Amino acid sequence: MLMALKITQRLCNSDDHKEPRLFTHREEVLEGGRVRYTCAVCGETTEFRRPLFTDQQLIDLHAEGLNDREIAEKFGINRSTVGSRRRGLGIKAHNRRLSFTDQQLIDLHAEGLNDREKAERLGVTRSTVRVRRRDLGIEPIRPHVGDHQHFLTLYEKGMTDPEIAERLGVKDGVVYNYRKKLGLKPVRRGW
Ligand SMILES: [Zn+2]
Repeated sequence: MLMALKITQRLCNSDDHKEPRLFTHREEVLEGGRVRYTCAVCGETTEFRRPLFTDQQLIDLHAEGLNDREIAEKFGINRSTVGSRRRGLGIKAHNRRLSFTDQQLIDLHAEGLNDREKAERLGVTRSTVRVRRRDLGIEPIRPHVGDHQHFLTLYEKGMTDPEIAERLGVKDGVVYNYRKKLGLKPVRRGW
């Protein structure tokens, strides 16, 4: 099988060099979704899983002023993936303040808001929320009952899942899952 070959600049950490430096590397795409980089100077090889984006794409976006989070968002991947690739290329991070804190996101999540609703409240895009939520290891809230406050009002009135479901025009299971996500006990009527 013919493999794609490319020449790229990468940081080489080999002891053959006085210190890690950018050197020309041969980039080979291997079978099984792996990529091998061979340093043109010392011949050291390093293998990675196939990158989801090219070094040049990362370099270009970084030059446009995008930070790791924003680049990750563009490619729909983890921020840490971008960070390690960026460092591998010997590029310094853009240190800009985040537009919202992790705690804000966690609080909105605890309110039961899905990504779209969190994004609305924070004034950012849904993909920004999704990337940060994943970085924090938080599971998405879905499917959705609709208006969270409406749900809470009905729940606090002592309505059961099927009753709430009927009011909100969704299936019982949607209410069941949503209530469980919020850590709320089921309403049970006595005999
Ligand atoms: Zn080398």
